[in-house]
Amino acid sequence: MTFGTHCHHHPDGSCHRNPLHCIVPPHMLKELAEQGTPEERERAMRSLVLSGQIRGQRQQIAELISRPVNREAVAVKQRIIYDAGGQTDLPGRRIRGEGDPPTGDAAADEAYDGAGATYDLFQVVYGRNSIDDRGMDLISTVHYGQSYDNAFWDGKQMTYGDGDEDLPESDRLFNRFTIAIDIIAHELTHGVTQYEAGLVYRNQPGALNESFSDVFGALVKQYQRRQTAAEADWLIGEGLFTRNVNATGIRSMKAPGTAYNDPKLGKDPQPAHMRDIYKGFEDNGGVHINSGIPNYAFYLAARELGGYAWEKAGRIWYIALRDKLRPTSTFWDAARETYQVAGDLFGAGSLEQQAVRNGWTAVGLTVDSPPTQQQPPLDMPGCLTAPAAILWRSFFG
Ligand SMILES: [Zn+2]
Repeated sequence: MTFGTHCHHHPDGSCHRNPLHCIVPPHMLKELAEQGTPEERERAMRSLVLSGQIRGQRQQIAELISRPVNREAVAVKQRIIYDAGGQTDLPGRRIRGEGDPPTGDAAADEAYDGAGATYDLFQVVYGRNSIDDRGMDLISTVHYGQSYDNAFWDGKQMTYGDGDEDLPESDRLFNRFTIAIDIIAHELTHGVTQYEAGLVYRNQPGALNESFSDVFGALVKQYQRRQTAAEADWLIGEGLFTRNVNATGIRSMKAPGTAYNDPKLGKDPQPAHMRDIYKGFEDNGGVHINSGIPNYAFYLAARELGGYAWEKAGRIWYIALRDKLRPTSTFWDAARETYQVAGDLFGAGSLEQQAVRNGWTAVGLTVDSPPTQQQPPLDMPGCLTAPAAILWRSFFG
């Protein structure tokens, strides 16, 4: 396997300006790097060496693929799928455009269908015309790199690795990354957040950014399956791990901290309450860790409301993301704003507003009064690349 280490390796500090939003979080990579076999560690090193080249390429590609947006009032779904052919040049060779028949390549067709399902939820239910609300093309690249164990949104497009599909089945930890539709929707929602609240990818705003991606990732899956809040599994990335790993998914919204517990992956570190919030520096201040708190608040509100979660809870969260939240918004800001939006949409004191209040209260946030504990300031030293540092140490002493 090749760890997606360069997703977290920004010695130039560029993660503040243009972070890569990767689905596999650094704490999991760190465990894999420490607990992996010699071969797994060697492959991780190779990806580190590659990372310098990839950063340079990414800039060129970003310029190459930035194109005028479709400003027509009519909603236009425009998907384009590229194949990197196991290389790391983006976007790769174009293999399917909007309306073309399936290619027969599972990853390409899953990327196409997943982008379509994500577009449909945002368009049909919330009236949004693509990621930027102006009909932006939905660009995806599949078969990125050799055994690349990650997927990411880089501000312009989606990119998916094949996981460990080149290894014998008994050695595989990850399946291909297009296999779970909520991962696709999670990554594309990072694009929506980038165009709306613009939540900074650090500390609480960063964990909110992650949480909104999980919320709409889960909702796209539920919408596609026509599942009610009670029927849904509320897992993110179900199907991503093989049977060789003790994991139900990458995160659990209904029970944060229980998605995996495995000798190679470590244990799911997500808290479900403010008293357990992670305060360290890793993972950009715990963006994939503390997202468990707002995730659980959303789950509780959706379960209390019942029915299809995208209709009420999802709409409240969407309006808050689009119109209320700002780049430095905290969990409490999200609690207050979703409570306000619920009142605007469904009436002050409505059952909907009460459900939102109850969800946040259960994770330790009171909608009417700010929490006493403050977050560390946003300008703390970032991008310390702890996983990379550990990898180097394990190889060179
Ligand atoms: Zn993410």
